[in-house]
Parts: sequence; C-alpha cells; structure tokens
Amino acid sequence: MRTKIVCTIGPASESEELLRALMRAGMDVARLNMSHGNHEDHGRRLELVRKVAAEEHQLVAVMADLQGPKFRVGDLPVEGLQLVKGALIVLFDPGREKPTVGPDVQLAPMPHPELIAAMRSGNRVLIDDGVLELRVVENPTAAGSVRCAVVAGGQLLARKGVSVPGAKVAVSSLTPKDKIDLNWAVAHGVDAVALSFVRAADDIRELRALINVQCEDASKSPYIVAKIEKPEALKDFDNILKVTDIVMVARGDLGVETSAQEVPFYQKKIIRECVRAGVPVITATQMLQSMIHSPSPTRAEASDVANAVLDGTDAIMLSAESASGEYPLESVQTMQSIATRAEAEGRSGVAATTDWHMVCKQSMSGDDIATAMAVAAVEIAEDVGAKAIVCLTHSGSTARMVARLRPVVPIIALSPNARTCMLTAFMSSVQAIHMQHVTEVQAMFDMSIKSLRDHGYVSEGDRVVIVAGVPIGRGAGTTNLVKVQVV
Ligand code: PEP
Repeated sequence: MRTKIVCTIGPASESEELLRALMRAGMDVARLNMSHGNHEDHGRRLELVRKVAAEEHQLVAVMADLQGPKFRVGDLPVEGLQLVKGALIVLFDPGREKPTVGPDVQLAPMPHPELIAAMRSGNRVLIDDGVLELRVVENPTAAGSVRCAVVAGGQLLARKGVSVPGAKVAVSSLTPKDKIDLNWAVAHGVDAVALSFVRAADDIRELRALINVQCEDASKSPYIVAKIEKPEALKDFDNILKVTDIVMVARGDLGVETSAQEVPFYQKKIIRECVRAGVPVITATQMLQSMIHSPSPTRAEASDVANAVLDGTDAIMLSAESASGEYPLESVQTMQSIATRAEAEGRSGVAATTDWHMVCKQSMSGDDIATAMAVAAVEIAEDVGAKAIVCLTHSGSTARMVARLRPVVPIIALSPNARTCMLTAFMSSVQAIHMQHVTEVQAMFDMSIKSLRDHGYVSEGDRVVIVAGVPIGRGAGTTNLVKVQVV
C-alpha cells in the first residue's frame, strides 16, 4: 500500500499487543493528541510505540498534536445541561462573579474571557464540532458574560470545544499549555509536532524558532505539521506551504470555521497544492467515524477514504476511531483495504487519479534541474520496467521531488539521516532504509543495491533507477544524477 496511515493513540489502543497489531495492519504514524491525557499517558504510549516499532523492524513516526487556542466549555455537572431550541443561555467567565439571571435562562461557564469579549450580536457559537449551535443576541457585558439563544439544542457537556466563526480573538496560535507540551515533545524526541489553528506563515516561523531554541542539533528537530482549519490559513496558504514541512487538512474544525459543504473543495485544493509543492499532506477527521461503535464502515465513509486517496493525499488519519473507539484494529484494516483498492485505479479506470507526472511537468520551469531529473527518473523507470526508483537523499528533497509525481514504480529512499527516514512515514509511495554515510559515489551505489537486496526489495537481474545529488550531501535541491542499474 502506498498511502500512509496516521493513528491517534489513546486509551483504546495503548496496549503493547494492540500497538503491534496496528503496526502490522499498516500504521505509519502514531499521533499523540495533547488535547487529551497528560504527559505521563503520552510518555507511556510513546515509549511503547518506539519499543514495538523496533521489535517489528518498522519505521513508525510519532507526532505530537498541540491543542492550540481551542476554546472549551468550563466545568458542568456530569449530566451537563439540556439545551432546548429557542431558550436563552448566558455564557459567563467563571473567573468573575456569576451573573444573576431569570428562572428561564440557563448559565454555562466559558473560561475564555478573550472569546467572550470578541463575541458580537448575531455571531454563531458552535459547540462540539457544531452539534450544538447558539446565536449571540446581545453584545457581551463589561462583567464578562454574553447572552445567547439556542438554535440547535441537545446535551451540553463540560469541556466540549467552542468555536465562534468570524470573531476576532486576540490570542497567539501557541498558548502557554502548547509551549509546555512542545517542551515535553521536543525533550522526548518526537518526530513531528502539529500546530493547531494556524493563521499565517508567521505562526509556523514562531514554532520553528521555539523548537530551534530547545533543539540545537537541527538533525534532531521535529518536523512541523501545519493544521489547516481556519479561513485565515486558507488565505495565507501559499506562504504557509513555503515554511511548513507537512500539512494536515483538519476537516473537523475546518468544517466549523468555514462550513461543512466547503470542506470537500478545500480538501481538494489543499491536497493539489501540497502535491505540486512536494509537501506531504494528511487528510484528517471523521474518515471512519461510525467505526467508533461499529465494526464496519458506512458506504459514505468508504467513499470518503477512497476519494481522499484519489485526490492525491499522502496520508489518511484516524482520530477517536483508534484512540477511544471500540474497533481500533478494524478501523486500520478498513482504511488499508479501501486505500489499496483506490490506489489500484492508477491513471486509468473509472476513477482515474490525477496524472501528477503531467501536472508537475507542465508547471516545471526551465532552470528547475531537480524536477527535470525527477521527471526523467520516473519516465525511465516506467520505460525499463524498473522494480524501484531509489532516491539517495540526505534532506529528503530528492525523495519529495520524485514522490510528488506519484509514479507507478515504488520509491525507496536511502538516507544516512534518521530524521529524513521518519519524514517518509508521512509520504505516499515512499519506503525508507536508513544507511551509513558514504562519500564515494560508486561505493554508495554498491551499498544501496546491497541494502535493497538485504531488505528483499530486489533480486538478481532486476532493474532499478537511482536518483541522487552528487557530490553527496550538498543539501536540498541538488538532485543531478539518474542511473539505471541492473542488480
Ligand atoms: C480537526 O479539527 O480536524 C483536527 C484534526 O484537530 P483536532 O482533532 O485536534 O481537533
């Protein structure tokens, strides 16, 4: 299978036995969601993932997902509040005096004074990914409360996420909690850090600067995943793409911050831009939502997973399905089988995938040597029936340039850099082999072929196409060699 699978690890999937089963079923990335659980929980899970991956000889990246400025309802009794359509409810800052209200008006704590202050009459207040909806009926009071009417009722539980589309809230993308979680994640050597509610490229730069302070050795710093879920991020997307390492289409909050009917089109546009730029992209949230409680997917979910693959996504993600659902293993197996089927459509068939080779070739500029080499390597590999395209890569750039063409021939990235190998856990079609650093070109070819044979990717008589930048190790964008080698 080419598409990578990201599994959120939580109480339902943290046992050694289940982690092993998830890896065997196709998990490539373990996501630690910092919105839930504490450092002790995440530390235990991280250690087990590392241990089991080593025992299974599998490359499994660990991604810490920072909560970001996610607003949540405050504490409520366990049974919550029953909100009835048309009723009034006052949201108040629990740090201030509790407002006095009439007998027909409910009260709910909202421990975010900056959000209350930003609400204006007419704003929609979406709770629990939009399951509950309120409308602000009066501007907030100086005492830190705001009166709303219930538009879509139901049970309001403590700690549910709150979003007010359009409200201009003065907060940084990195909250004090995120900074503490980031320190923990970097100190524990996670492979990637995801930033929630990114608004602009500067948010990514700020995160990178914080990582650099803590992580002096750049070869150990985690990759950055920009979660695209706010309209501001869609506006600044071209710039975000230039500074981030990986992108996530965070469809849950994206659907709340924009609207559900826009999500499929933002998904297609974001994936397209990412593939063209060679930036790995994850499609996330509610992919197999019904499998939280059911052993098989709905037909709509099967179509959703297949369509994300046909759109060109590198990776697909499970959230509650694997973290707290009843069928974590079945969810990974289901994703695996749907993605494998979708990948088989290739460039022909009823649902032919985009010919990324053509797309990239058409947009190539004359002085882009790395892209020209990648295009040539893919064409030669397909023409000579090569078993693999072998990318000898330090930074991962050569592998990214080849992978964005989505070739039919599998890609093997050989790198002396363990960090680069972990990037491939997020990249469609690429498998990595960690190999020793060599400077002499012929020795490097010989060692590459030996590694491929040892790992069972090729046998005598097979052809492979080697792509590299020589002299070796000059950095990203220096791909300048394509060679056909008979094993
Ligand atoms: C999302 O909103 O789709 C998402 C992935 O973020 P989170 O699960 O952290 O809310």
